[in-house]
Amino acid sequence: MLTMLHRIKFQLLAQGMAISAAARTELLSQAPGGVLTLADYASTSGIPIRLPGDIYVNAPIADHNPNFVNASPHLLDWTGEAFVLRSPQHEWPAEPIPVPAYGSRNNSAGEPYNHYGLTHTDRVRISPISGCANRCTFCDLPRRYEYRLKDAGLLIETIRVALEDPLLPARHVLISGGTPKDTDFGYLRDVYEQVLAAFPGVPVDIMMLPLEGVLDLRALRAQGLHGLSINLELFDDGLRRKIVPEKHAIPMKAWLSSIGKGVELFGAEVRSMLMVGLEPMESTLAGVQALAERGCTPVLSPFRPAPGTPLQDLHPPSAEFFEELFLRATDICEARGVRLGPQCAPCQHNTLTFPQQDATA
Ligand code: SF4
Repeated sequence: MLTMLHRIKFQLLAQGMAISAAARTELLSQAPGGVLTLADYASTSGIPIRLPGDIYVNAPIADHNPNFVNASPHLLDWTGEAFVLRSPQHEWPAEPIPVPAYGSRNNSAGEPYNHYGLTHTDRVRISPISGCANRCTFCDLPRRYEYRLKDAGLLIETIRVALEDPLLPARHVLISGGTPKDTDFGYLRDVYEQVLAAFPGVPVDIMMLPLEGVLDLRALRAQGLHGLSINLELFDDGLRRKIVPEKHAIPMKAWLSSIGKGVELFGAEVRSMLMVGLEPMESTLAGVQALAERGCTPVLSPFRPAPGTPLQDLHPPSAEFFEELFLRATDICEARGVRLGPQCAPCQHNTLTFPQQDATA
């Protein structure tokens, strides 16, 4: 049985959140760089808040998503002593998660740290490659940033600073960023190796396509990698061809085989994200089934239209759509002995997932 707060999360992801003047003033006064959010990527462009029960939501806001946040019934307010989320049904204490202090500082080369990495909730995500060799139509990275490789030493410096941040210390690391050109596979393998060697006690995950020249799973395991995200994004073949053409060029059989091999080495720490709202629900559920059958952790991430992309005028699905999909996907996972991910509660902020104490009990 879903609780009211579970449904509020779905509603926030579907409609976003308004911010009162008092809440905005208080948030800005607490933010070191004087910004509400660094809005580095579509799915992290909102304000992450923690609600009772350890429910994290990255709530879209009109500042960065005027394309669909315009009449939300949910309001983040400041009482003078605490933040509250006021909804038509009820109001709850809310804890906005701050922007890290280093997010507005420069590194030892005089460049903004946030050009190299950024912490959301409790994970620092570094991006070795700016831009991307691919052009998925929902993604703003190849449209906002020129393709370039970043210095591995400065990426490692960013992680060190993020782990010690006074406002938002990171507890784990994701190496993400754009997809490399063929000629840069070696560069990325080298970054992986250097980062894993530099932080032996810190869980480090990689998010990447199943490119054999990049993901040497056995080597990564030996180097101490904690987990992998091999994101399918969509499962419908025709829509994959249209929306994620370079990902579609890798046959589905190869995706699933790579995911299966990953599970043999990393178990449930192999995740795969399916974007919710760009294909029919039945296609997403077929993807959940294919992943769960292989022991992979499916991650359901709501589509959030990014300004400046060909899909900017689309809207996220409704809260009712999220609810039905979540419940049906949970049933599929339970039947296969896996769980929707991610398991880390703070990292659930932009996914249809809840902490273990179970949204469906
Ligand atoms: S591969 Fe990833 S980073 Fe590159 S365009 Fe697609 S979603 Fe964006």
